[in-house]
Amino acid sequence: MDKYITIFLFLFLASCSGLEESAQKKVREQNKITRAILRESDERTLVIAPPILKPREPYPWENRWVGGHRRITKEHFRCHGKLLNPPIQIQTSDHRIVYHQDCGGIDGHSLPIKENREFIYPILVELLNTIQGATGKQVVITCGHRCPIHNTYADSSKAAGASKHQVGAEVDFYVEGMEQAPHAIIDILIKHYRENETDPAYREFHATAKGWANREIEIRHHHAHEDRDGDNQHPYPYITIELKYDRTKKRPVHYSWHEAHNSTYKY
Ligand SMILES: [Zn+2]
Repeated sequence: MDKYITIFLFLFLASCSGLEESAQKKVREQNKITRAILRESDERTLVIAPPILKPREPYPWENRWVGGHRRITKEHFRCHGKLLNPPIQIQTSDHRIVYHQDCGGIDGHSLPIKENREFIYPILVELLNTIQGATGKQVVITCGHRCPIHNTYADSSKAAGASKHQVGAEVDFYVEGMEQAPHAIIDILIKHYRENETDPAYREFHATAKGWANREIEIRHHHAHEDRDGDNQHPYPYITIELKYDRTKKRPVHYSWHEAHNSTYKY
């Protein structure tokens, strides 16, 4: 009996292995045929347009040179007042003589605050960099922002009381190496507007009592010994750019008591 069982098992296993081998061969043959697995959604997602890469804006520290000199930023506009300056005597509106102490300058207060940031009208910064780029020479700001305290200290005249230096809308400067050629600098400014503007209100400058103006700015030229104040004690002619019109906000720019006094004070 055992003999039959052994023979039966032998035959069974032999037939099994034969089947297995042919099945494996069949599977191997099938595996040789490759087919991509496509889903309906693949037809849409497989076709991908090349990504459009937007070049990022340079960080301020990557773009710091203009005309071979440090780029002018609003930092260059900080108030020139100093607590160490001796007090001066000034006349009040009711004709009393009082002592007036200068402000703490860069250590004492910020630039005017506007929309929660220190603020200088960007067009002034741009124009000074245009000059620096065109001349390859350093623009020296002698008076950028003046806080109301330093404004009185530098020039206590009544006319200066409404100076736009106090709201970041005016700048006095000269160009190192071109101190005696302020007209060349003014020509650069006017040319800059002529080349970049199509609107005649910006393109064309007309003469004013003190200089030249378009809709946006007035440029004034001060001779070597005129219009000296506490911040312009150097012996050179200097140029003033005063902002008249804010083209971003579409409104004229005036002195405002509130804007002038809206700085952060440390003491
Ligand atoms: Zn000040």
